[in-house]
Amino acid sequence: MSAKIISGTETAKAIREELKVQVAELTEKHKLIPGLVTILVGEDPASQSYVSAKNKTAHALGIHSEQVTLPAETSEEELLALVDKYNKADNIHGILVQLPLPKHINEAKVLYTIDPNKDVDGFHPVNVGKMMLGEQCFLPCTPHGCLELLQRAGVETSGAEVVVVGRSNIVGKPVANLMLQKRAGGNSTVTLCHTRTKDMSMHTKRADILVVAAGVANMITADMVKEGVVVIDVGVNRIGMSESGKAILAGDVDFNSVKEKASAITPVPGGVGPMTITMLMKNTVQAAKQLAGLA
Ligand code: NAP
Repeated sequence: MSAKIISGTETAKAIREELKVQVAELTEKHKLIPGLVTILVGEDPASQSYVSAKNKTAHALGIHSEQVTLPAETSEEELLALVDKYNKADNIHGILVQLPLPKHINEAKVLYTIDPNKDVDGFHPVNVGKMMLGEQCFLPCTPHGCLELLQRAGVETSGAEVVVVGRSNIVGKPVANLMLQKRAGGNSTVTLCHTRTKDMSMHTKRADILVVAAGVANMITADMVKEGVVVIDVGVNRIGMSESGKAILAGDVDFNSVKEKASAITPVPGGVGPMTITMLMKNTVQAAKQLAGLA
């Protein structure tokens, strides 16, 4: 068997078309232009490229976007004051502070300062708590993207054995949490694996749906999965450089061998990656509607 490829690029394109229509309607009917600000501190090249991709996508959808780049020496106080300024700005509905921040800045303090109603990354404890309780909130973008991929690919999650590899606050834990919620797209039986898991294969072999977010290139091989598994590979690992100077990327799943056993699988690149930015746009549009009392 060779797996169906779940294309994040195609799914993201479809969602972006839907968002474009919503943004045009908000702009024309309600004179409301959703606004997003991205704040980057320092010059990390990966962060720079993420932020610029976010702004480019926002622009393409008709979302007003502002990109603020601050020097690495920016103090915590200055950053907090900037976040506060955007908390109060009427034309900004979503605030994203690109992580990681320089070591001298307390990341949690900055994230907690963002108004939960503008927290389009879904990292504020108010939103994390609401997610846990199954309440309406801003979902973190990468886990939300994983769920959308499964849903739009028609994968049944109810009653499924889901194994998540990785327990970070931004991917593994929220994916696990969302998949066990008592609602459509959830209702799974979830196992969460990490570096202290004794026998990883024992768990991964039982999975009907396997979500991998460990950051270890090609760690999941064909002998670790069962026939017919659906695989969502969140991992993005730079494993080399092409002759033209472009990074060569690999997922956490050995795509070539696992696709022969899986029923469906996401590629890297072109899988979860494009979904993350798209979910950020979806949250921004949602934030604009909510703040304007239209949701
Ligand atoms: P992270 O914070 O480093 O967490 C990695 C998790 O994986 C940890 O819980 C760790 O366990 C676990 N882990 C690491 N090596 C393992 C191993 N050999 N066996 C079992 N568990 C292992 O990483 P993250 O931020 O969640 O990101 C994970 C991957 O997803 C990275 O490749 C990242 O680049 C990618 N990512 C992609 C997107 C996207 O949009 N496509 C977005 C976010 C992240 P412990 O807790 O025990 O240390």
